[in-house]
Amino acid sequence: MLQLPIYLDNNATTPCDPRVVEAMLPYFTRHFGNAASKSHAFGWEAEEAVELAREQVAQLIGAGPKEIVFTSGATEADNLALKGVFEAYSSKGNHIITVCTEHKAVLDTCRHLEKMGASITYLPVDSGGLISLPRLESAVTEKTILIAVMYANNEIGVIQPIKQISDIARKHKVLFFCDAAQAIGKIDVDVNKDGIDLMAMSAHKIYGPKGVGALYARRKNPRATITAQMDGGGHERGMRSGTLNVAGIVGFGKACELCMSEMLEEQGKIASLRNKLEKGIAEMKDVFINGHIDFRLPNITNISFYGTDGNQLLTVLAKNIALSSGSACTSALTEPSYVLKALGVNDEQAYSSIRFGVGRFNTEEEIDYAIEQLGKALSSLRQKPMTIK
Ligand SMILES: *Cc1c(COP(=O)(O)O)cnc(C)c1O
Repeated sequence: MLQLPIYLDNNATTPCDPRVVEAMLPYFTRHFGNAASKSHAFGWEAEEAVELAREQVAQLIGAGPKEIVFTSGATEADNLALKGVFEAYSSKGNHIITVCTEHKAVLDTCRHLEKMGASITYLPVDSGGLISLPRLESAVTEKTILIAVMYANNEIGVIQPIKQISDIARKHKVLFFCDAAQAIGKIDVDVNKDGIDLMAMSAHKIYGPKGVGALYARRKNPRATITAQMDGGGHERGMRSGTLNVAGIVGFGKACELCMSEMLEEQGKIASLRNKLEKGIAEMKDVFINGHIDFRLPNITNISFYGTDGNQLLTVLAKNIALSSGSACTSALTEPSYVLKALGVNDEQAYSSIRFGVGRFNTEEEIDYAIEQLGKALSSLRQKPMTIK
């Protein structure tokens, strides 16, 4: 039986996997200790659980456990990486290279750093959403301290050429920071193979709890030094003070473990659901897939429905299908997506776009239903006069 509404916004957040919840529960009650309490068993148990989770997170990305700094999520990890590097390397330079389609957590942090004296280069992208490698390399100067490029985009799923970017960073001895909140657990991410020095992650995008994430910070070849942005008890090797969210961290670790063991199988299943959805939508005429088709996450598609207003379409569907027009962080705005604008799409294409995010718990039946409902909503809306200018 189909349960309504169905959830197709898995790039905004995912439900916790029940196995994650089960792993977390004891850490709210019986094992409630403070992981920093060194003098009794409550503290030791909590610390042990945190260290296991640290290994689980590290394993998923090919890192060492000492390279994981737990945070409140990817937003905080983005802030810590950018501000932390800016502060730690101020004697070397003040130049950071990033991309205009980054998540707001990166872009707004860069804007903040500009006020603090940083010089930021915002690289453009091509019509598929990819950066130009020669352009990246020619942007590097003697003052460049960091290249910040996301692994996969949250609105269109486009995967940047990470290895080639890190090769450029290495060649010029510049650190490479990557926001991988959308990529980990979905595709193979390995900080060593990929040459990433700092990386942001979030638990709630991979069937873990909200409010927890991590920053990976390389310890050698090269060592990525960051200045703490949260001062206090010196937790997390002094890089992020504050009592650890033990239950959340345990859930994050469990979520990583599950991704590690199930990713390959899940990738295929989710991609086939996404492809089925795309195929069904392609028959609706005047639709256009945004972003590069060949370099894309398996779980996402961003589609423009010409002749409709995307927000109207979302409103008509909202009772039965949870979807969004792009980033959850900006979906309250009525402006078209800055990511789509950066691809150079016209206003009509940007205003009529919807992001579909397929996840672990979606079924074929749900996809069939979504296609059917979309078709109906679309034909009724396309008969009405357009309301956007
Ligand atoms: C979701 C997301 C974030 C923010 O993560 P939170 O854990 O919710 O703070 C940052 N970057 C990208 C690419 C994301 O998709």
